[in-house]
Amino acid sequence: MDKIEAVLAAPDRTVLALDFDGTLSPIVPDPERAYAHPASIAALRRIAPHLLQVAVITGRPAAQAVELGGLADGAGLEHLVVMGQYGVEVWEAATGEVVAPPVPEAIIAVRAALPALVAAAGHPDAWIEDKGRAVAVHTRRLIDPAGALTDLTGPVRAVAAEHSLRVEPGKNVLEIRAGGFDKGDAVRSLVARLDPATFVYAGDDLGDIAAYDAVAALRDQGRTTLLVFPRMPGEDSPLAERADVIVAGTDGMAAWLAALADALDAAGGTARTS
Ligand SMILES: [Mg+2]
Repeated sequence: MDKIEAVLAAPDRTVLALDFDGTLSPIVPDPERAYAHPASIAALRRIAPHLLQVAVITGRPAAQAVELGGLADGAGLEHLVVMGQYGVEVWEAATGEVVAPPVPEAIIAVRAALPALVAAAGHPDAWIEDKGRAVAVHTRRLIDPAGALTDLTGPVRAVAAEHSLRVEPGKNVLEIRAGGFDKGDAVRSLVARLDPATFVYAGDDLGDIAAYDAVAALRDQGRTTLLVFPRMPGEDSPLAERADVIVAGTDGMAAWLAALADALDAAGGTARTS
């Protein structure tokens, strides 16, 4: 299957990092019920023992991704790392602990201000999601998600700027967070720690562009890289032209991971044992 030979060349020196929402878990109306695709998790349990490291890099709090992914009960995933809040938090399966600095005061202040702000913008039913060190305003449950997003962008950017916070736009979502961490930083910290020969990254949304950029820089350094884009049907995304592999959404991602697991099993050898 597509480009899997890049991993087969040196599995024990390969890092596989994956976004969570839209990559491992289907996008659903309620982000608190975005459970991971069971076939993807089953494949990762088979893949991880062959590789240097498997990591999940997500905007969500690490503990939430662990729960939605069923990642804590981990045959095969004993060395998994989940980097939450764009890498600010790190959960390691080996310890079961999340390591993270305290939530910035500015985030607490903006979270408190948002209900009144979205109501004033005419969208009192916009879903405000507490993401720990970030807060997200979702419009996907509203009647006109795109129109509501347009209405809310100005006021949300203004309140974020007032508190020196950044706004990360996504699919029907505006996410407010402190500067200084993006998925590119998460990729670079994995590389600094593990020095992989091959880096594979899978991600589907605008927040993944920073990771794509970081992976492109690794390629320029002479490392082998692979960018996988799970694309929703008919979706237009700047990731499409940069990806090495495009798969059909989260189902396609699961199939690609299963094929990778099959190929690694067939090639034999295990990089690490638990
Ligand atoms: Mg995503």
